[in-house]
Amino acid sequence: MSHTSELSLEQKASLASGSDFFGTQAVGSIPSIRTSDGPHGLRKQESGGDHLGIVKSVPATCYPPAAGLGQSWNEELVARVGAALGRECRAEDVQVLLGPGVNLKRSPLGGRSFEYFSEDPVLTAALGTAWVTGIQGEGVGSSPKHFVANEQETDRQRISSDVDPRPLREVYLRAFKRIVEDAKPWTVMASYNRLNGVYTAESSFLLTEVLRDEWGYDGVVVSDWGGITDRVASAAAGLDLEMPSSGGVGDRALVEAVRDGAIREELVGVIAERVAALAAKGAATPPSRYDVEDHHEIARDAAAQSIVLLKNDGDLLPLSTSAKIAVIGTSAQKPRYQGGGSSHTEPTILDIPLDQMRAIGDDVSFAPGHGTDPTQAERLRDEAVVLAAASDVAVVFLAVPEERESEGWDRPDIELPADQLELAAAVFEANPKTVAVVARGGIVRLAPLTQLPALLDGALLGQGGGHAIAATLFGVVNPSGHLTETIPERLEDVGSFLDFPGEKGHVRYSEGLFIGHRWFDARQLPVSFPFGHGLSYTTFRFDGLTLEETADGVRATVTVTNTGARAGRAVPQFYVSVPGSSVVRPVRELKAFASVEVEAGASVTVSALLRRDDLSYWDTTADRWVLEPGRYVVSVGASSRDLRGSADIEISGDVVRPVFTLESTLGELLADPAGAAVVGQMMTGMMAAAAGPDNAEAPPVDEDILKVMASFPLSRMISFSAGAATAAQLQQLVDAVNAA
Ligand code: BGC
Repeated sequence: MSHTSELSLEQKASLASGSDFFGTQAVGSIPSIRTSDGPHGLRKQESGGDHLGIVKSVPATCYPPAAGLGQSWNEELVARVGAALGRECRAEDVQVLLGPGVNLKRSPLGGRSFEYFSEDPVLTAALGTAWVTGIQGEGVGSSPKHFVANEQETDRQRISSDVDPRPLREVYLRAFKRIVEDAKPWTVMASYNRLNGVYTAESSFLLTEVLRDEWGYDGVVVSDWGGITDRVASAAAGLDLEMPSSGGVGDRALVEAVRDGAIREELVGVIAERVAALAAKGAATPPSRYDVEDHHEIARDAAAQSIVLLKNDGDLLPLSTSAKIAVIGTSAQKPRYQGGGSSHTEPTILDIPLDQMRAIGDDVSFAPGHGTDPTQAERLRDEAVVLAAASDVAVVFLAVPEERESEGWDRPDIELPADQLELAAAVFEANPKTVAVVARGGIVRLAPLTQLPALLDGALLGQGGGHAIAATLFGVVNPSGHLTETIPERLEDVGSFLDFPGEKGHVRYSEGLFIGHRWFDARQLPVSFPFGHGLSYTTFRFDGLTLEETADGVRATVTVTNTGARAGRAVPQFYVSVPGSSVVRPVRELKAFASVEVEAGASVTVSALLRRDDLSYWDTTADRWVLEPGRYVVSVGASSRDLRGSADIEISGDVVRPVFTLESTLGELLADPAGAAVVGQMMTGMMAAAAGPDNAEAPPVDEDILKVMASFPLSRMISFSAGAATAAQLQQLVDAVNAA
C-alpha cells in the first residue's frame, strides 16, 4: 500500500528529515512519530532535546545498561527488559526507542562501552536480537546502533575505522546481521564515523549492498544525530531519515538534487514511503500504562542476574545475616548505576545498597572511607579501618565516578581511583575477610584487588542494583552473571592497545579477528579474569556433550548437573575451534550459549544451536560466507578458559571451487583435484623434456621441486619451460580445469 503517492516532491522530501529533535514530520495524513533514547531506560525530554543528557527527562525505569545486562547472558531476561521498555514508551507516546547499542568492546578505553553488550559478536547478536524482539513485541520500534565500526569516542564524528573484510564481516557486522535478519528492527542507526574512508552514512556498500540486498532489510535507516555531512550522498547511499531536523536544509538539498538530475525522484519517493510506513506502524500501537513498582521489580531481577561473582575464596560469601558487617565506601550510599550522555535517564526509584543491606542484615555499620576533600582523606580512611577491624566482615564498595566515563570521550586508563584502591588495601589489612563490590561502565584493572578473598562485579546495574547487590551478598540471590569482556592483567595486553584511538583521522583495527578473548588466547596471555567467567554459590558439572549436524548448523547438547547445595543458574558456553582450517582462525570462539536454572542435586539437559552462519568464515576471494568442510571441535565451558569437555564433528560444508587463471599458482591448482591431475601431467612432461630425448624414462617429479614451484603462478611456466609451454596451451589447461 502506498502512503505517499499523492504527495508532492517537496512533501516527500520533508518526510526524509525530523520535525524537531526527536520527532518525524507529519505530512498530509502521515502522522509524526517520536523517537527517544534509550537504550537502558526511556529518556523522553519534555521540553527541548539534546543528545548529551543535559535536559532532564521524565522519570522512567533505569534498567541495567548493556554492560551490566549483558552479563546475564540471558536472552529471556533481555527480551523481558525490552518488552518493559516498550510498555514505558507506549505510556509516554514514544514510537521508537534508540537502541540497542551493538558496537563491540574493542578497547576497554572506549568511553561508551557501558552502552554495549560485549567484546563478542555472537553474544552481542543473541542479546541484541532478544532486546529488539522484546520491545517490538510491544509494538514499539528499535534502532540497533551505531552501524558500524563505532568503537570509540575520540574523533567519533570523523574518524575512519579501517577494518579488513574478514573482521568486518566476522566480528563487527555479525551482530547487526543476526539482529536485522531475525528481529527485523524498524530502524537501524548509521554511525557518525567513516568505515575504510567512507562515512557510514554515505556508504552504499553498507546501507544498500549489505543491509538491504544481502540481509533483506526493508526498514528505515536513520542517521545518528547530526551525523549527515552530505544529505544527497547519504540518500543515494540508502540513508532514509535525517535526524534531528536540519530546519529544511536537507530536504531542500534533496529537492534541488532531483531538479538538477543528480538523483532520481523515485529515490525520494522510496525514502518517503519507508518513513511513512514506519510512522503508520508506530501510530498503530495503542498507548498503554505501566506499573512503576512492577517495572522496578524487573529492574531488580535484571540487576541480580547481571552481577558476576568473580572470586569467593573460602566461601566468604554469602554473608550471614547475624554477622557484624562493616560497609565502606561512598558508593554504598550514592551508587554508581548508569553512564553519561544520551542514554542518561531519571530513575523512578533508586535502591541504595546500604539501605538494602540494612534491611536484610542484623548488624550493618557504615563508614564512607573516602571523600572529595583531601584534608579529610586520612581521617575518613582511619575511621573505616577501625570499623573494619571491629567487624566480622568488611564490604568495600568501589566505583569509577560517573564523570570519568561518558559518551563523547574515551577513558585515559582503566584504573579504579587510587584513593579507593588504597582504602580497599587498608581495610583488607585490618580485616582479611574483606569483600569488594565494583561498579564501573568499562572494565577496570582488578589486579590490585585480586588479593582480596571475594569480589563482586556489577558493571552498572541500573536503579535496582542496590537491592540486587544486597540480595547477592546475603545469598537471597545466587549470583549467576558472567563476564562479557576479558579483564586483562594490564591494559597493554589488550589486542587493540597499539591502535587505539588511532591518529590523523584513522584508527586501524590491526588486531583483525583477534578482539577480546581471541587475542589473549592466541597470544597465550595471562588474564585477571577470562571472558565468560562467573562463579555461583553452587557448583555445576557439564557432561555428556553431543553434537549433531542439522540444516541450520550444529546442535550441541550437554547435561548440566547442580553438584552443590542450592539452586542456581548455569551458563554453559560453547566454543569452537577448527584445527585444520585453511584460513587464520582464533584458537576458539564462542558460537552459542545457554542459560538454565538447576535445582540442587538435579540435572537438566540443554541444547544450543551453533549456527551455520556463525561457523562460516568470510572468504575474501569469493566474497561470500563459506562453511569450511572439515573437523570442528566444540568445547563446553564455564568460561573461555574453563573448558569442561569437548567433542568433534566432521562437517561436509561448502565446497567453493576457485576460478583459476594464469595467475593462479601451481599450489592452488594442486589443491584442486582436477587441477592436480592436469598439473601432474604437465610436470611429468616437463621433467621428461628436461631429461632429454635420449632418456627413455622421465625422472619422477621431485617432492622438493614441487614444494618450491607451488608458489609459482602458472604464467611463469612459459619462461621456465624454455618455451615448451605456450600461453595458449596454459590457457587451455586452465580452461579445462575450470570446466572440470
Ligand atoms: C548518539 C546516539 C543517540 C543520539 C540521540 C547521538 O549523539 O550517538 O546514540 O541515540 O545522539 O540522542
